[in-house]
Amino acid sequence: MPVYCYRCGSCGRTMEEFFHRTKHARSPRCPGCEKRMQRDIHAEFGGPRAQGQWPIYSDAMAVHPSQIADAKHQADVLGVPTEFVEQDCPEADKWAGQPIFTSQRHQDEYLRKVTGGKIVNLDKYG
Ligand SMILES: [Zn+2]
Repeated sequence: MPVYCYRCGSCGRTMEEFFHRTKHARSPRCPGCEKRMQRDIHAEFGGPRAQGQWPIYSDAMAVHPSQIADAKHQADVLGVPTEFVEQDCPEADKWAGQPIFTSQRHQDEYLRKVTGGKIVNLDKYG
């Protein structure tokens, strides 16, 4: 089960929780000030400061939100486990279905295997 990170936009408190679909139909309340917390994807993947500009989300490689489970399964089968921005995250309007790459190696491997060897970094031609 994935760990989700949350940050309170009001007081800045952070929290990690195991994700439960039913429990997290809405984001949890801040234990400090009771405001709704926002999911913090950057914190979940180590943060951009820790890894240069990573993680990045790929608009070019995005799948339809209904295909997220299939895309994850395909990535697992291909040997490049990849997370996708889920439909229920706060940024879903913009980013749902986009793969989340944690390093250049990760992105290159994903592109190489998903495209069957044609190494085309679509983001570079956006
Ligand atoms: Zn708070």
